[in-house]
Amino acid sequence: MTHILNYIGGEYRNPIGDLWLSNFEPATGQIYSQVASSDRRDVDLAVVSAMNAFPEWSSMVADERSRILLRLADEVEKRIDDFALAETKDQGKPLWLSRNVEIPRAIRNLRFFATEILHSENSAYDTSPTQLNYTLRRPIGVVGCISPWNLPLYLFTWKIAPALSAGNCVVAKPSELTPMTAAMLGEMCSLAGLPAGVLNILQGLGPNVGQAIVEHPEIKAVSFTGGTKTGETLARTAAPMFKKISLELGGKNPTVIFADCDYDKALTETVRSAFQNQGEICLCGSRILVQAELYARFKQDFVEKARALTVGDPLDPSSHQGALVNQAHMEKILSYIDLAKDEGGKILCGGERVTVEGRCKDGWFVAPTVIEGLPQNCRTNQEEIFGPVVTIAPFETATEAIELANATDYGLAANIWTSDLSQAHRVAHDLNFGIVWVNCWLERDLRTPFGGVKSSGVGREGGTEALRFFTEAKNISLQL
Ligand code: NAD
Repeated sequence: MTHILNYIGGEYRNPIGDLWLSNFEPATGQIYSQVASSDRRDVDLAVVSAMNAFPEWSSMVADERSRILLRLADEVEKRIDDFALAETKDQGKPLWLSRNVEIPRAIRNLRFFATEILHSENSAYDTSPTQLNYTLRRPIGVVGCISPWNLPLYLFTWKIAPALSAGNCVVAKPSELTPMTAAMLGEMCSLAGLPAGVLNILQGLGPNVGQAIVEHPEIKAVSFTGGTKTGETLARTAAPMFKKISLELGGKNPTVIFADCDYDKALTETVRSAFQNQGEICLCGSRILVQAELYARFKQDFVEKARALTVGDPLDPSSHQGALVNQAHMEKILSYIDLAKDEGGKILCGGERVTVEGRCKDGWFVAPTVIEGLPQNCRTNQEEIFGPVVTIAPFETATEAIELANATDYGLAANIWTSDLSQAHRVAHDLNFGIVWVNCWLERDLRTPFGGVKSSGVGREGGTEALRFFTEAKNISLQL
């Protein structure tokens, strides 16, 4: 059986406590590896390694750091098929999604930040003929990066790439549910010539090793993506220590479809935004709002398309939807479907566990589920389900659509479909979300700010925002 180890100081190591967690393949429901269950002692070791590596890494010219990180991207790309297979086995998502979207995007993250540092600028202020102010942005030191299980390598690299590019040394932790591809990245770091200790990858449980990362006094900043409750705990720990924190948290995103939309495109993309990756993307649209005159037609076609999605073995190229990440998550999703029924919702399709014949007979699959007849203020519409479950409801006017869409504590992303760009602009302006997509979904330009408002988080990632987070400004005022 495979053992998934920590990567500290450029070497794979067993956890000091020699404790292990079972790692399951969601599609089969079977244990296929053991993951290091690290603790505070492993964090201490990783931090010492990172501190030792910091002087050399932070003083390296950007061009040299960039070359090493580009080599890291190349090493992953050479093994893209292995990474994609590992991601699918660990997470349950379809192989075509890992191979064609997520691992390529992880590689792109590394390349983007490796080159961004070659083009970034500092500021100088010409105060008077005898006074010059200039601002340097210096790396912080040792930083922590903690990522979730839904887009494992993509979100892991989304954090470590800017942190490393900016000259920091990193102690990073993937989710204990999807440890494999982050662990594989360790070997790629060694092959790429990343100096030992610059990136340390720790495996294990959030409340143990994750909490120890956040509490460690030498870790000066923590970038976190995960659930809102965990974000709250993290903020409570980090704030009294005056750590910089970036929190990318949950969402309950609306998709607003106006009657004048490009119908076929809106329909196809709304199916995708509802169910891609089993609905386990923080940006998935889970509250679908459709203008009244289009409602009956859209509902019928949408349900038909949701029913036609194949739920099956993630290795089968014809599977649209794979397995949910673990049994507890599947049960949570099924309990929300029961709740929706209790709240008066009508299940238009799905609503149950799916049994896939053959090697996946014990896997954790749930059918794409569409629910109608629920008000926006019920729990089904307020709490993040994070699975293949959406609600659908009609609205009359743009004003009503905005009111319904904004009726949530979350504020991550919203989606608008209309052919009237003035209307799109007005609605986008009034939607209280960090990201608004108009007539598209999940289009990403890595230079743009990424993040949510309200319970969806604090801070922004992406482009210069990420480099700002992972650096401290130092202003020098020079009298000539
Ligand atoms: P989670 O909060 O349970 O775990 C996220 C990470 O935090 C894991 O690595 C976990 O081990 C670690 N962790 C848990 N407790 C910790 C603690 N006390 N201290 C430090 N680390 C701790 O989230 P999850 O279930 O892995 O991920 C799903 C959630 O992530 C959803 O809410 C989803 O919306 C959110 N998410 C948000 C974004 C975004 O960009 N806003 C992107 C993806 C996922």
